[in-house]
Amino acid sequence: MAGPQDDGLLGGFELNFYNDRMAPLLEIHQQQGAARRATLHLPHAKVETPVFMPVGTAATVKAVPQDVLESLGAQIVLANTYHLYLRPGHEVIRSLGGLHRFMSWPHALLTDSGGYQVFSLSNIRKVTPEGVEFRSHLDGSKHFLSPERSIEIQLALGADVMMAFDECTEYPAEYARAKQSLELTLDWARRSLDYFHAHLHEVPWAVPQGLKPGQFLAGEWPAVNGGPYPVSGAQSSVLNPESAVLSPESRVPSPSLFGIVQGGMYPDLRRESAERLVEMDFDGYAIGGLSVGEPRHLTREVIERTLEFLPKDKPRYVMGVGYPDEIVEYAQLGVDMMDCVLPTRAARHGLLFTSQGRVNIKNKQYAEDPNPPDPACACPVCGRYSRAYLRHLATSGEPLAATLNTIHNLAFYLDTMRRVRDSIRQGPQGNSPPSLNVEMADA
Ligand SMILES: [Zn+2]
Repeated sequence: MAGPQDDGLLGGFELNFYNDRMAPLLEIHQQQGAARRATLHLPHAKVETPVFMPVGTAATVKAVPQDVLESLGAQIVLANTYHLYLRPGHEVIRSLGGLHRFMSWPHALLTDSGGYQVFSLSNIRKVTPEGVEFRSHLDGSKHFLSPERSIEIQLALGADVMMAFDECTEYPAEYARAKQSLELTLDWARRSLDYFHAHLHEVPWAVPQGLKPGQFLAGEWPAVNGGPYPVSGAQSSVLNPESAVLSPESRVPSPSLFGIVQGGMYPDLRRESAERLVEMDFDGYAIGGLSVGEPRHLTREVIERTLEFLPKDKPRYVMGVGYPDEIVEYAQLGVDMMDCVLPTRAARHGLLFTSQGRVNIKNKQYAEDPNPPDPACACPVCGRYSRAYLRHLATSGEPLAATLNTIHNLAFYLDTMRRVRDSIRQGPQGNSPPSLNVEMADA
């Protein structure tokens, strides 16, 4: 197995390629029931799944620096295309070497398509088969996003995993409306995929034109768009265009594109969406259009009934979920990847997820409580600070409150998924997956 290799592109910034292209994108190690433990082989990291992905909307997981994310064991971070397109602009990020380098995160990144934010945040919009016209929520300026444009922006950002442009069907939606939305999303999926295959060499870490993932070799590295992106002096042989050495180890990986299953809460539409996307042969599949206000039992039902139509050998990602007990439940159904703003957003409001249930740290009952936020948590916050101190920070509006609360919540989520992976590794004789108390501890 090839180890990390300095790609030589980024000077002092260490951006490693894990160019083990002999491995499939998803290497499954164990299954336990429907749950599986696997390694996702991405260009910038090997990600152990099931995985929870912290949300870093504007190229930052709010209030937490990147070195802390690393120490907590965050493997892959999600960034929002819509936000980065509007500010600072994808061309700015491309010119600075791409999103990995811009935010100094040399590990795996996933970008969404921008579709969800366009539909939920922007002010005025017109949806046509061509794309979506909208006004920025920042300054009212007019913009247009289409499948091609979304992928173009995502390629400029250069994430390891990119998402097809979709329309997130609102809830509730009539059958006819969900069906119409589904057709639009399928058309956009096809166009996203076509554009992706034609342009994937445009990622800032560059992939030669006309070649598909894993097919090209370093010795064939061509000059694209005026040459590969700035190559500094001490480049590795992997990137040397003169190199005639074409060993399998010198293959440079390319990004992946996932399709998104829509179809509202209708099982037959979900099935149709999944089957037609699978025919298009994406690298992985996401289940979208959930966490839009539907009851929890419906979320689970849609996930369960969609998973059976998705290929078992490809990554499966449920977008925008959930509470700690929900991410455990969905991993047990066979979901590999999840993301959610909940741990970070709740933290900024003083809500902590703990092994004893949810704790609203602003409550008066913690004013003189010398205990750690969660006695069972090994995170740096629980190892150092008391509930009384965290309550003081939160009620005083101190910026450190957001940082410390977020660090704990992310540690709790990441540790929860680590225990899920351990439980799959140990098999039926091992520990059962973590059962979580989701009641409010102070209710
Ligand atoms: Zn903690």
